[in-house]
Parts: sequence; C-alpha cells; structure tokens
Amino acid sequence: MDSCPPTCRCGKVYEIYSSNSGLIDYDERLKMYTIKSGNSLYTILYCFGCGESLFTKERIELDDAIQQEVNALSKKIKCMDDVISILGQADFVGDANPDTNIGRTFIYNNIWPEITLNLMERKDGSIQFTYSIN
Ligand SMILES: [Zn+2]
Repeated sequence: MDSCPPTCRCGKVYEIYSSNSGLIDYDERLKMYTIKSGNSLYTILYCFGCGESLFTKERIELDDAIQQEVNALSKKIKCMDDVISILGQADFVGDANPDTNIGRTFIYNNIWPEITLNLMERKDGSIQFTYSIN
C-alpha cells in the first residue's frame, strides 16, 4: 500500500515535490523525501522552511523493524567465524587499522535493501555492529 508523502506546517517540501520539478522526490521504499546532488541521494529529515520533522509513522516503523532485525542478528553473531557462516562473504572488506582497536570491517549492502551493515572486528575478537540507512 502506498502511503502519502508527509506534509509539515508550511508545506514547502510537499509543494516542491508535487510541482514535479524533479528537485525533490519521495522515496516510497525509504518513506522519506530525497534530494539529489551529483550522484548522491540525500534524505530530507526536516523541512527547510519551518523545521518540522518529516518522519512519517511508516518511516519510524521501518526504523524500528530494521533495529530489531539488527539486534537479533547481533545476538547470533559473536565472532568473525559466525559472520561468514551466517551472512556469507561480505560485499566489501576493509583492512584493519593498526592505530585503533578496530580490526577488519565487513560491509554488507545486500542483506536488506534499506540498510548497509558494517561489522567491525575488535581486538578481543568480538564484533561491533553499526548500520546506516541507504
Ligand atoms: Zn515546513
């Protein structure tokens, strides 16, 4: 079911989006307005006119669902061997940084379409989970 793009007090973001100028789009999958700059796509979290939040209920639910899945995964994965056996080969592996406590970084883009998952190996062998919304 498609949801309506959110509006704020002043309605400026929705107004630009609905003018079909192409300046602002609404991403149905991410439940956020987006703005393109070069090859990068940025989400618009707050209206630049009135400052009101543009997070929809659907977006907040999406964030909660992703957070729960990542939490469940982080309970199953305790070491690097678990990472490979549960998630398979990473899309990208970053080298360890000898100046920090962080070992290799495993990045997965394709587990969920909405997020990029970063798993960092700590010196003690445990795994640090972080993720970003795509
Ligand atoms: Zn506004």
